[in-house]
Amino acid sequence: LMGQMMDAPLSIITLLQYAARCHATTEIVSRNCEGTIHRYGYGAAYDRVQALANGLVSLKVAPGDRVATLAWNNHRHFELYFAISGMGAVCHTINPRLAADQMAYILNHAEDEVLFVDPTFVPLVARLQGQLPHLRHVVVMTDRAHMPETPPGFDDLLCYEELIAGQPASYDWPDLDERAASSLCYTSGTTGKPKGVLYSHRSTVLHAMAAGCAEGVGVSGREVVLPVVPLFHVNAWGIPYACAMFGAKLVLPGPRLDGEGLHELFEAEGVTLTAGVPTVWLNLINYLRQSGKRLDMLKSIVIGGSAAPVSMIRTFEEEFGVDVAHAWGMTEMSPMGTIGILKRKDLDRPAEERYALKATQGRMVAMVGMKIVDPMGRALPHDGKAFGELLVSGPWITSGYYHNDEANLAAFDEDGWFRTGDVATIDADGYMHIVDRAKDVIKSGGEWISSIDLENAVMGHPKVAEAAVIGVSHPKWDERPLLIVVPKPGETPDKDEILSWLTSRVARLWLPDDVVLVDELPHSGTGKVLKAQLRQIFKDHKLP
Ligand code: ADP
Repeated sequence: LMGQMMDAPLSIITLLQYAARCHATTEIVSRNCEGTIHRYGYGAAYDRVQALANGLVSLKVAPGDRVATLAWNNHRHFELYFAISGMGAVCHTINPRLAADQMAYILNHAEDEVLFVDPTFVPLVARLQGQLPHLRHVVVMTDRAHMPETPPGFDDLLCYEELIAGQPASYDWPDLDERAASSLCYTSGTTGKPKGVLYSHRSTVLHAMAAGCAEGVGVSGREVVLPVVPLFHVNAWGIPYACAMFGAKLVLPGPRLDGEGLHELFEAEGVTLTAGVPTVWLNLINYLRQSGKRLDMLKSIVIGGSAAPVSMIRTFEEEFGVDVAHAWGMTEMSPMGTIGILKRKDLDRPAEERYALKATQGRMVAMVGMKIVDPMGRALPHDGKAFGELLVSGPWITSGYYHNDEANLAAFDEDGWFRTGDVATIDADGYMHIVDRAKDVIKSGGEWISSIDLENAVMGHPKVAEAAVIGVSHPKWDERPLLIVVPKPGETPDKDEILSWLTSRVARLWLPDDVVLVDELPHSGTGKVLKAQLRQIFKDHKLP
């Protein structure tokens, strides 16, 4: 017997239509590349989105076409999210921090026909001249007065404000299949070529609903939300969609993601909720400590993308009164898989126990299936101890990379679950703890050493700013941990003091065999420490 309910398809544009109708004057505030602040309400934003959709039609963009963006978090990028997906085309966000050859590969693999670009990134595009056979138009996201010079070889730089000027502020949105493609994001390609993940209207709306609700990021009409996470990093973790869906004031920080630039906007706009990767928060904490500034309105920070050290969680809560939710996910998962919202029964635990729970990657969210398996593919118990490869399934998880049969062969098990490449434990309450990336775990004489747990412990040392642990080959043990430390400014911790700090915090067998100090660690375009690069640099390091 079938239910008798309407089969209304889930669609991205309906989120903005709702916001325009019910939150017309709720603000979207944006710091632009020109350094000015732009502000308007969801109502005015929707008018411009309709004009932009007409502008896209004038460029002969059709449903299914890929339209690329190379831009910071600003209001025009927000408009593109909704206009492109709403008209049935695919919004393909590109990470401007990628190397030129990777960027060219991605633009060609996606066959992007139109590229929208912030003025600051025009020189990046100029470097790709002659390598993009599919590209028909480059549109610079600014007004005529701020148009950059046309680089040699380009005769066709269009101006965003001119594209929409004079276009009608009404658009007859098509009825789309909810499974139609809406946006596209490539993984960063630290291992092999970048791989495309093609989201649908259905996956995006369901993810926004789950990510936005109280057991997720907690977006609502009472919050002022500033996503530090870029719109090119897994759709800013779904936050722009959730803000429209729940009518939250949205603050877009543009190119200034340094501690001072963020603090200025947090205070001026009354930001209550923010989200980003750990490296951003290290910078903010440094700035706050040096300047003596406070976070007066901010209530919560969502930290994900790499492991948030327990010292960071404690610092935000104890020094600045800000609650931290640690989250885990992947480009392939839209990205949310787990989030560290404590359960009622855990709220009254002693502080150290609460911080330890929060330093796990958080709890499984509803609708995301998770299993851990041994090397034979057999399911392991959710007892918080057994660890194995983590596989996931659910309505916002990829069912196959875009045009990439080779990668798809290895990415799924026989039941169609996606292999995350992470090694994890899961406990009976659904808390998931990432032991390590499978490729980063250190295999020492049959024992597995978690580089993440070691880094987490070292990061609490008062003289340590950042740390990474890699395996270095060892004649007897196969591999042993090498600890690489970036000291805080003006500090030079010695090996013995760091090892004695660790002695009371990790098993003796886990103690790194050596400690080296460096000025900085290499990071990927999404803020992850590039361990493969560190392994290369230290491959001949002689352990004492
Ligand atoms: P990339 O394109 O660099 O793979 P993703 O954001 O998709 O970017 O990376 C996903 C991976 O990042 C996960 O598989 C996991 O290894 C790591 N990761 C994400 N969040 C966390 C976290 N909170 N703790 C530890 N690792 C994390």
